[in-house]
Amino acid sequence: MTRSLYDLDPGQLEALVAEAGEPPYRARQLVHWLNDRRQPDPGAMTSLPRSLRARLSERFAATGLVLDRHQAGDDGWTHKLLFRLPGGDTVESVLMLYPDRATVCISSQAGCAMGCTFCATGQFGFTRHLSAGEIVEQVARVSTMLPQLRPGPEAPDHPTNVVFMGMGEPFANQEAVWGAAYRLHQGFGLSARAITISTVGLVPGIRRAAAEPLPVNLAVSIHAADDATRDRLVPVNRTWPIAELLEAVGGYVEATRRRVSFEYALMAGVNDDLEQARGLGRLLAPLRVPGSGGHAAHVNLIPYNPTPGGPGSSSLAPRRTGGTGYAPPSKSAVRRFRDTVAASGVPVSVRANRGVGIDAACGQLRTAAGRPGRRVLPPPEDRR
Ligand code: SAH
Ligand code: SF4
Repeated sequence: MTRSLYDLDPGQLEALVAEAGEPPYRARQLVHWLNDRRQPDPGAMTSLPRSLRARLSERFAATGLVLDRHQAGDDGWTHKLLFRLPGGDTVESVLMLYPDRATVCISSQAGCAMGCTFCATGQFGFTRHLSAGEIVEQVARVSTMLPQLRPGPEAPDHPTNVVFMGMGEPFANQEAVWGAAYRLHQGFGLSARAITISTVGLVPGIRRAAAEPLPVNLAVSIHAADDATRDRLVPVNRTWPIAELLEAVGGYVEATRRRVSFEYALMAGVNDDLEQARGLGRLLAPLRVPGSGGHAAHVNLIPYNPTPGGPGSSSLAPRRTGGTGYAPPSKSAVRRFRDTVAASGVPVSVRANRGVGIDAACGQLRTAAGRPGRRVLPPPEDRR
């Protein structure tokens, strides 16, 4: 497979230019194209000599990602992009705009092997890992498209935050994910605090995060307060049950003194009863930041986003439950759950569901793509 220049770290880029017999300032120009202009195509790097451009074009792809579909929602404040990778697999990136923020949600794998029963990506299974370059290029592509995509001048014109909450389990692809995180920090200038990695709870990955010098935010998808319920939703819980998971998170908090978010997708009749809410409070209240003693856990409640037609579902499957058979609780049930967690002292918020109308939950655009009768916009470059 042809590689992307985004797969190379600064040392490798310098070596590449030296091998071509070019002076070191050419490496700085190359880095400028990649990091400031967000341009991975060697052929378009017009400040480089033609011979170097040709040499690079032989080894590196013009782009690793071809925009396949684009859906806009929330009056243009949410954009969902489906990219085709070399080899034909597709991954999703989502741009969520706010007056003071532009968050890009990126994928780390095509599909996911973790098999969470409520997740459209999990139900499709795993296809392949993304390289560091393919992960970084999602942010580069959204950066160059952002000025066209934003609904007005009140929205930022560059990505301010990146979250690894798209398709895939980041800690099942650690080398590429950490490589991408360092490049986003050092190359694209995102602070570590503007980068969030979300994990289903792979304990070795959490231990590594505790030891990495780059202090990114950690989010843990917990979804249940007891092992029997979590086993049903998150099969990997059988390998690393809740007690082991929280021990690893405790180690992370000790080592980094950082707070951790816990994601909890609320599903009616499955994990939304108040016994779960009280259990969650009991599990998380003891997690404290060393020194200050403040709560180290923050719970994000996400009302379940129905997934349109997972495998085995039919077009007759009710829209409310989608293909996986799960449904979001009522607004009052969400409030009661939130208030019960809050009563334990653990900070908790309900995450606004972005892009519900455009299938913006994990894995949903890929599921919708190709289904007849859905309104899917052509890529912006074709929309003139
Ligand atoms: N694999 C990682 C990151 C990608 S999933 C993880 O599981 O953490 C990002 C988040 O979306 C996770 O918290 C996941 O549980 C949640 N999610 C997946 N499908 C969802 C759905 N249909 N509704 C609400 N949340 C969902
Ligand atoms: Fe994979 Fe995360 Fe979906 Fe689970 S929720 S299947 S870990 S992407």
